[in-house]
Amino acid sequence: MIPMDPSGPILSAIDIRKSFGDVEVLKGISLDAKKHDVISILGASGSGKSTFLRCLNFLETPTSGKVIIHGDEINVQNGQPKMSVPIEDIRKRLGMVFQQFNLWTHRTVLENVMEGLIHVRKKSRGEARSIAENYIERVGLSQRVDAYPGHLSGGQQQRVAIARALAMEPDAILFDEPTSALDPELVGEVLKVMQSLAEEGRTMIVVTHEMAFAREVSSEVVFLHQGKVLEKGTPDEMFATPKSEEFKRFIASM
Ligand code: ADP
Ligand code: MG
Repeated sequence: MIPMDPSGPILSAIDIRKSFGDVEVLKGISLDAKKHDVISILGASGSGKSTFLRCLNFLETPTSGKVIIHGDEINVQNGQPKMSVPIEDIRKRLGMVFQQFNLWTHRTVLENVMEGLIHVRKKSRGEARSIAENYIERVGLSQRVDAYPGHLSGGQQQRVAIARALAMEPDAILFDEPTSALDPELVGEVLKVMQSLAEEGRTMIVVTHEMAFAREVSSEVVFLHQGKVLEKGTPDEMFATPKSEEFKRFIASM
C-alpha cells in the first residue's frame, strides 16, 4: 500500500504493453486519473482502446506494465501479475460499461442490478434491493424494474448497465463505446446520464466516438494511435490546436 496523496491519481496506468502473439497492440500507454476526472479516449478502430480499458481492470492481462488503483499496485512482467491484493478486489473498484450492455437476458432490471451487490458485495437481498432501486431511479428507469432486457430499448438497456456499475460504488467507471451500438435517436438519453455522472464528480474513463461529449464533458482527451498515446490534453487544447496529422485527420473524419 502506497500512502495516498488526496490530490494524486486514484487510477494510474504506467507503461502498459500488450501483445497478442507477435503483435504488440499496446506499446507503452500511461494514464493518470484523479478523482472527478473524466478522460475521453479517442482513436481509430483497432488503435487499442478496448484492449487498454480491459488491461486496466485485468479482463485482459497486460504483457507488462503497472496499474495502481487507490494505492494498490499490480506490477506485470512477462505477462505475470504481481499484486498486493487479489485481482477480484481490484476489479471490484472499477465499474465497466460495455458497448453491448452485457445484461443477463433472463433476469429483470432489478435482478441485473442486484446480482453483483449480492454475490460480489455480499449484501443481504433486502439491502441489495434498496441500493439497486436507488440507482435504477438514478438512471430514470423506476417504471421498468420488473422488465426483462429484451423488452427494453437499447438506450434503456445501457442505462441499466450504468445503474449496475454505479450500484457497486466503484472508484472509477470505464465505458467502452457505450453508445456505439445504439440507434441514433437513443444515443442522447445515455449521454445525458453520463454527463450527469460527470457533473456529480464521478471519475470516468470513456472510450467514445461522440466528439461533443469528449469536447464538452471531459476534463482530458487522450488520442491513441497504433497502440500509443499520440496526443493528450484538455479538450480545448486538443480540439483547438491538434498537433499531429493523425489527430487532425481523425477529427476531420468525425
Ligand atoms: P479498438 O478498441 O481501438 O478498436 P482493440 O483494442 O479492440 O482496438 O484492438 C486493437 C488491436 O488488437 C486490433 O488489431 C485487434 O485486432 C487486436 N486484438 C484485440 N483483441 C485481440 C485478441 N484477443 N487476440 C488477438 N488480437 C486482438
Ligand atoms: Mg474497441
